[in-house]
Amino acid sequence: MGTKARELAGADVKNIITLLNKAFADEWLAYYQYWTGAKIVRGQMRGAVAGELAEHAAEELKHAEMLTERILQLGGNIIIKPEDWYKMSNCGYDAPEDPSVKSLLKQNIKGEQCAIEVYKKLADATKEKDVVTYQLALEIMKEEIEHEDDLESLLEDLS
Ligand code: FE
Ligand code: FE
Ligand code: MG
Repeated sequence: MGTKARELAGADVKNIITLLNKAFADEWLAYYQYWTGAKIVRGQMRGAVAGELAEHAAEELKHAEMLTERILQLGGNIIIKPEDWYKMSNCGYDAPEDPSVKSLLKQNIKGEQCAIEVYKKLADATKEKDVVTYQLALEIMKEEIEHEDDLESLLEDLS
């Protein structure tokens, strides 16, 4: 546990750990949604879309790792039961029941828009209180914005 890290986060440390864990749940669900989508996607430009979805899956998993590092530094515990991902998540999980390229892109764009809001809120909650978590939120938010843009460009190429 990072004693000084906890001290700097101050009275808000518990709340910050909860927000980090909620984002952690979102990242695992996003990871699985992308990972599954990349395997089952069907239709036009399937190769390009599958490649992008697989890349995003890897990046969501990396986000889960970045969040983990910060949670542990702050003396928190990460969620250890997948069933709790659902309970803690902000953005939920959209099962890719329709494997068409368009449907998967739309579902994942919705997920990215939710993720952008999650990190915007985390940034607002930590600004001037916990600089390290604030920087982390900005770093991840930047990648979620890129994800949204990548998917919107693919959707545009289709129509
Ligand atoms: Fe992410
Ligand atoms: Fe993302
Ligand atoms: Mg991308």
